[in-house]
Amino acid sequence: MPDAPTQGSIQRIETLVRIYTEKSGTTVHPDATVTDAVVKGLARSLDVLGRPLCPCRFYPNPTEEVRHRTWICACDDMQIYKYCHCLLFVNSEGKPITEYLPEAHVGRVAYGVVRDPTPNKGRPLRIKAVERERDRRLRDS
Ligand code: SF4
Repeated sequence: MPDAPTQGSIQRIETLVRIYTEKSGTTVHPDATVTDAVVKGLARSLDVLGRPLCPCRFYPNPTEEVRHRTWICACDDMQIYKYCHCLLFVNSEGKPITEYLPEAHVGRVAYGVVRDPTPNKGRPLRIKAVERERDRRLRDS
């Protein structure tokens, strides 16, 4: 991937972030360098793959991964559990929300239980949790 994403893609991702923080009741990270790095990574994905594939994971085949859609921002973990492992969508302390994750999920193990400050917002795909965990086991995603 090229090092510097285009300004056009950066602006599209910034718009996505603005809309999605409002929709999900989350905020961006209090350390702006965290947000900047993730936004640029997502913008690079947009430039190279045509979709904002999550930049915080390794994919053996990024083009094939785009077809699954699991890690296109806002990803399945965000839309089901309101959990963002990149720390782009977090609470006001900069912590990812973990309270809806399965207990064995790496996010729960790493951060413990972090409560959702706005439970009336977000998680539009919450009914897909069983399907998500099956997918995670079957293809390590
Ligand atoms: S973890 Fe999900 S919501 Fe967070 S930046 Fe990556 S794709 Fe987006």
